[in-house]
Amino acid sequence: MIYQRSSALFKEAQKHIPGGVNSPVRAFKAVGGTPIFIKEAKGAYLIDEDGNKYIEYINSWGPMILGHSYPAVVNAIIKKAQKGTSFGAPTEIENNIAKLVVKMVPNIDQIRFVNSGTEACMSAIRLARGYTKKEKIIKFSGCYHGHSDSFLIQAGSGSITYGEPNSPGVTHGTAKDTLIAQYNNLKSVENIILSNKNEISAIILEPIAGNMGCIPPVDGFLKGLRKLCDKHNILLIFDEVMTGFRVAKGGAQELYGVSADIVCFGKIIGGGLPVGAFASTNKIMSYLSPNGPVYQAGTLSGNPLAMAAGFSMLNIIDNDPELYQRLNKKADYLDVGISEILKRKGVKFSTNRVGSMFSIHFTEHNVTDFDSAKKADNSFFPIFFHQMLKNGIYIAPSSYESWFLSDALTFKDLDKTIAVVEKISSKLL
Ligand SMILES: *Cc1c(COP(=O)(O)O)cnc(C)c1O
Repeated sequence: MIYQRSSALFKEAQKHIPGGVNSPVRAFKAVGGTPIFIKEAKGAYLIDEDGNKYIEYINSWGPMILGHSYPAVVNAIIKKAQKGTSFGAPTEIENNIAKLVVKMVPNIDQIRFVNSGTEACMSAIRLARGYTKKEKIIKFSGCYHGHSDSFLIQAGSGSITYGEPNSPGVTHGTAKDTLIAQYNNLKSVENIILSNKNEISAIILEPIAGNMGCIPPVDGFLKGLRKLCDKHNILLIFDEVMTGFRVAKGGAQELYGVSADIVCFGKIIGGGLPVGAFASTNKIMSYLSPNGPVYQAGTLSGNPLAMAAGFSMLNIIDNDPELYQRLNKKADYLDVGISEILKRKGVKFSTNRVGSMFSIHFTEHNVTDFDSAKKADNSFFPIFFHQMLKNGIYIAPSSYESWFLSDALTFKDLDKTIAVVEKISSKLL
């Protein structure tokens, strides 16, 4: 493949935009090489600025669950745009989407729309702190909740430790209120709670981790967290920015039958436009301004174009009873197909999958948390990535990202993808 135009555009981009990108993972730093500039996309395919075509497994990091340029969603945006693009005043479409989400998702009465997943999670912990009148939060090593200060904290050594900021600019004052536990390890959570009695306002997690590869919760983990929260008067926050409307209509809450106190959304809820949201019960949401004391606001929040895109996509999802079965079947087919080949060729690997979220780790061991994800031989990943790309398969440029399948993928696309894995597998030994 030729990447002439992409290379030229990236050179130009670096002059005007830090690192040439508006979000770091796009820069291909983890895999080397220069990023592909996308010209357009339709269904399951991307076309880059050099005219190369790819089968798509990123799907804008999750939102495009129906595939790109889905006609009904595009039309909803066009129709809205013709009537004005932003008013900073209430509109009927906000009622419509709020009502639909509350119907689709368990355990929520009210929802507030924001502009990104970052904003949703940031606002959710402020609300939890305001509601419980406690200041500390527990998050899990390897879980991503956007780039606000409280979440850019990594674990030190040992499980009961104060977080150290992992970006300059995050103050130690902020970091000391974020405590880090190990994913899938209830004991690590309980230890932190016991050594911070009556100080923890909330536990926030990805109920299925998707930002260290795809890592499912082990049996009893989510239910155990629910119990700990009830016992110690702590709010349980599910960050369903990735999993919401992805693994089931009602997200991970529905899939695992565990209820959260606050749920965060992003990605699919905006139908491919910039949207986030957080939702909870009437009681908890009554603490939010203008009714309550916890402040939160946004000039473009509930923007009509974004609401139209989200409402259109969620309606399609809500009215398609077989969508998740189809996605599951396709993802299973891909997982089994790739796994059979890699096993036969003697590649050391393991795969993780929940519904249409999927990841490959180059290790024979089970990947169940951030430590085991890091133990994989990640030197194979850049080779895998570039070989896939060269052969027309577009996956995330990092071993810590999940693949997202869209309903637009056909079994022919999946067969092609599996055939590429077979073709390149000798390079993974
Ligand atoms: C993507 C993501 C976020 C951040 O959302 P942005 O829209 O990128 O700010 C937060 N939490 C999870 C689980 C995510 O996957």
